[in-house]
Amino acid sequence: MNISKLLSYQSRKFPNQEAILTPTERITYQKWEEDVNILAKNLQALGFEAGDKFIIHMPNTKEFLYLYMAVIRLKGIVIPINAKLTTNEMEYIINHSDAKFFGTHELLFDQSGPIEDIRHLTCIKTGESVGKWIAFDELLQGEPTVIENDSTEDEEVSILYTSGTTGNPKGVLFTHRNILTVATMICIEMDVKQDSRILHMMPLSHSAPLHLFMAAGLYVGATHVLAPTFTPDLLLKTVEKERITHFFGAPVAYLLTAKQPDINECDLSSVKYWIYGGAPLGQQEVEFVKRRFSTESLVCVYGLTEAGPNGTLLLPEDHEYKSGSIGKRAALHCEIRLVNEEGQDVGINEPGEIILRGEGTMKGYYKDPKKTNESIKDGWLYTGDIATRDEEGFFWVIDRKKDIIISGGVNIYPSEVENVLMTHPQVEDVAVVGVPHSEWGETAKAYVVLHEKIDSLETEFRQFLENQIASYKIPYLYEELEALPRNATGKLLKNQLRELHQERTV
Ligand code: ATP
Repeated sequence: MNISKLLSYQSRKFPNQEAILTPTERITYQKWEEDVNILAKNLQALGFEAGDKFIIHMPNTKEFLYLYMAVIRLKGIVIPINAKLTTNEMEYIINHSDAKFFGTHELLFDQSGPIEDIRHLTCIKTGESVGKWIAFDELLQGEPTVIENDSTEDEEVSILYTSGTTGNPKGVLFTHRNILTVATMICIEMDVKQDSRILHMMPLSHSAPLHLFMAAGLYVGATHVLAPTFTPDLLLKTVEKERITHFFGAPVAYLLTAKQPDINECDLSSVKYWIYGGAPLGQQEVEFVKRRFSTESLVCVYGLTEAGPNGTLLLPEDHEYKSGSIGKRAALHCEIRLVNEEGQDVGINEPGEIILRGEGTMKGYYKDPKKTNESIKDGWLYTGDIATRDEEGFFWVIDRKKDIIISGGVNIYPSEVENVLMTHPQVEDVAVVGVPHSEWGETAKAYVVLHEKIDSLETEFRQFLENQIASYKIPYLYEELEALPRNATGKLLKNQLRELHQERTV
């Protein structure tokens, strides 16, 4: 089996089943299959060949899913990127990936303008044709001719760039087998079936929406409901209108929606699983979300792009008393261990690095064998996430290894300090990072966003922290910022804060 054959299979099995629903169109599996063949043929005519790389810079639209399948059908390598990336971020990926083709969407025209300067790319644009851009609609002209794809499961199919929260984005290379593995995991663990209706509101350029939910839906011939953007109101209305059964969103999407005053007027009873991931939800937040959504069906997924993402699941029944944890077992097709620096398993409540093994794990980093060998050892993926396991076997993520501050030989976990600082009434947002110190090697610095001005940050926060955490964990330096730097998915960019400190001290 391969991803391309899955679509052909579903179009034969369920030709009239609704495959893609957009705000304006309802597309069956047969139509998706036929249009993908036309598109693939026209791409071939433009010079697209097997192995060529194609960047898809599109929000969740029909055009995204059409291009994704057409590129794969031609045995190309598909590279979906977040539609909200800045020009610099896009240029980095374009240059690093050696892409020959670039497809963007009319909803993003103002953002993709500067990319027109990148001459080596053939560009596909929805809407009107401009210069060397080709309108997407032109590529849907013609008669469908069947194009077969005989890729084996071990052939390469896509590159997803990581969020870049710990440095430059890394190109994570996947095979068909990686994606099919993760898709089957979700179908079985979360009961995705032909009559499932999956709402895609989080960017399909990321591994969780794309592999966990798009590929899983494709695997069983489910219906994909596409929304190009997230708003709480749109989420509630779409769930009700389209009788959605599965939704995946970042924790913040749940928190914002839970605050909607009219949430109780919406019928959300069709949803079997409300799934979140990328970050935890704490006990109070879980209770708030469950109460406002009138649901007991929250599932937390833990994983990272490099794992497919396949890691662990915190199931609805465990949300009662283990919220904030990532669950007590690896998901189907995955194994998990916690190890110390020597690679030995750690004991109960001892911090160790999460390592994962399974067929969802990436083939490697594109053009970076050194980093690949550092990350995958004996088949185990070293995640860089530090966690503990409690007496009942539940895993708790503490921090990312790269963010741990080693001050005078002692480890400080920034998230612990951040969690306490967040309880200060004037703190709106906070990030704690390690910065160089002549005697201790590193020291903690807190960057804060405040509701109201505070005269002396040092005095105020040191006093506040004094009785709450050990003195060696209390940040030595403080700085106020208007906002913390975050990437397109809202993840904090701590490396930019470390650089900022460097600039300030030069
Ligand atoms: P980069 O590797 O470029 O820094 P990134 O790791 O932020 O990018 P992702 O793969 O999107 O990119 O993020 C995965 C990380 O998100 C995990 O390693 C973990 O730190 C965090 N994470 C994911 N799910 C959860 C969860 N349920 N609870 C806590 N943290 C999570």
